[in-house]
Amino acid sequence: MANLNEAVDAVLGNINIVSVISRYLTLRKGGKNHMGLCPFHSDSKSPSLSVSEDKGLYHCFGCGASGNVITFISEIEGISRFEAIKALANEIGIDITSGYQKGKREKFLQITQLAAKTFHNNLINEIKLNPTLRKFIKDRHITENIAKQFFLGYAPFDADRYVDELKLLGKDVDVAKDLGVIAISRAGRPYFKMHDRFIFPITDINGYPIGFGGRTLSKDETIPKYINSQNSPIYNKSKSLYGLGLAKDYIKVEGNAILVEGYFDMMTLFKAGIRNVVSSSGTALTPEQVLMLKRLTDKILVFYDSDDAGQKAAFRSIEILLSSNIEGKIFKLPVKDPDQFINERGAEEFKEVLNKEGILLEDFYLFYLSRVYDLSVKKQKQEAYSKALDLLRVIADNDIKEKFLGKIADFFQYSNIFVEEDYQKGTLRVKAAKPEKVSRKINLDSLGKKYHEAADNFFQILFRHAARYEEDVLKIDLNNFPVGDFRELLASLLDYLDMNGKFESNGFISFLADNEKEELVSSAVTYIMSNEEGAQEEEEQKDDTSHFHLYRLQMELFGIRINVNNIKKVMTSPMESKKAKMMHFKDMSTLNNRIVDIQKELGGYLHGK
Ligand SMILES: [Zn+2]
Repeated sequence: MANLNEAVDAVLGNINIVSVISRYLTLRKGGKNHMGLCPFHSDSKSPSLSVSEDKGLYHCFGCGASGNVITFISEIEGISRFEAIKALANEIGIDITSGYQKGKREKFLQITQLAAKTFHNNLINEIKLNPTLRKFIKDRHITENIAKQFFLGYAPFDADRYVDELKLLGKDVDVAKDLGVIAISRAGRPYFKMHDRFIFPITDINGYPIGFGGRTLSKDETIPKYINSQNSPIYNKSKSLYGLGLAKDYIKVEGNAILVEGYFDMMTLFKAGIRNVVSSSGTALTPEQVLMLKRLTDKILVFYDSDDAGQKAAFRSIEILLSSNIEGKIFKLPVKDPDQFINERGAEEFKEVLNKEGILLEDFYLFYLSRVYDLSVKKQKQEAYSKALDLLRVIADNDIKEKFLGKIADFFQYSNIFVEEDYQKGTLRVKAAKPEKVSRKINLDSLGKKYHEAADNFFQILFRHAARYEEDVLKIDLNNFPVGDFRELLASLLDYLDMNGKFESNGFISFLADNEKEELVSSAVTYIMSNEEGAQEEEEQKDDTSHFHLYRLQMELFGIRINVNNIKKVMTSPMESKKAKMMHFKDMSTLNNRIVDIQKELGGYLHGK
């Protein structure tokens, strides 16, 4: 009997990827790698699947399918990663079928799970004693069944008993602190950070609690109504969706996902039998959340609150959705939110809204622009028009893009040709050499292009000798990079180094796959395998290091400039509040200071060489 991580190591270390893949297709040696017809797309002409025996990785230049022997088996057999590991481990005589010791993530999950249980049991006890809680539960229509199904809770103050239980289970109390579950008072006693709050456990896609949302019952306006767990090795606010564990199968069946703002919106819809629903739980929709949904469906129906803040959030989600190749609609209910709608009018009427109403994302975008800009004022019309072009540039689906161009022309009463010219002006095409899955299909301006090139070079060198650059990578400040795949890849690399301590390319691929980051698996494998050819000499290594730092600085510099440009755009927008503008201003000066530092450092590298 082996633990799961040991089994993974044994599988990756002892099973030859070429012999496993050869069971499914014919591989021929060509240069350093083996090549074959890719089984994951209709690959009939020239073999596009490349397999590296040394690195234990495969990559398809046609469809971008990538990974190691474990992902290969899981994809081709249509089984889970765990099943694939089990099957492969079995081949080398390792049994992980029962009682395997759990990995680090599992250990963390036991700590959050015990907390969820503590909160849930406390809710049951407190209902009898606490009239405020009793009233809250009644007002929000929370039944016993719902409380059970969603494992709702109420956090007490004292965490003494919880800590004792952790110790009995042999758990590290410090980890509970790191996960943001407990804190230690000045008097040295443990207490729950979400004490006196109504608790919604936030789960991963498999239903395990990874963090918590807590709503205060207090009427005190100075206390934040909702708080979330801090980000931790298992929980990241921008990468989680409330209710996903329960809703995922229904989303697949329905062929679409309903996206709502609040915890209660999600619960109330689910309770009413509309189960393909998830909540972004009060945060603005993030590209990471869209990626999670995209694995289940390409269609998202947005039901944000009907107040100004909700409508603005809906507007902001459009760019993320359309650039991720998601189609969808935005709905505006005649009441505050879906929770209220269901409670007042019932599920049948909601389904009618679902079927009959809703505005296409791109149409809502124009409609919203017409509401916040006065199009009879020339300058404001210009600004609205350039916003519409911004969206046009990021739309991933060509059909939608083409139609939207026509809609912009109609809306602003310009000719199609005029709009198309303006669209082309701000657009430089990216080199289309890479396979579809790896290259982002967005068109880039020249700054974006420079950023891409620097990042591409940076990652190529990084993955060539990752172990050498661990320390430099750990010093990177993610906030300086614009949201996107490169930042995601860096963030995952940092997480991986945090957990694992050292870099190992095949292990990193497994880590990405474990965290359901298929897109990144593909990019990372591409970088790692593009290094196959270069058996590096000592001389070249020195050169590598100075190039590494050069590209690292360039990437950061261009990344910051993109961020600064984005902030400038927001700051001149009439849609932004004064307070928000002040905050942006602060961000911008920090970034500008960093630019000056980088330029100094860059100068050193350029001259020192
Ligand atoms: Zn392929």
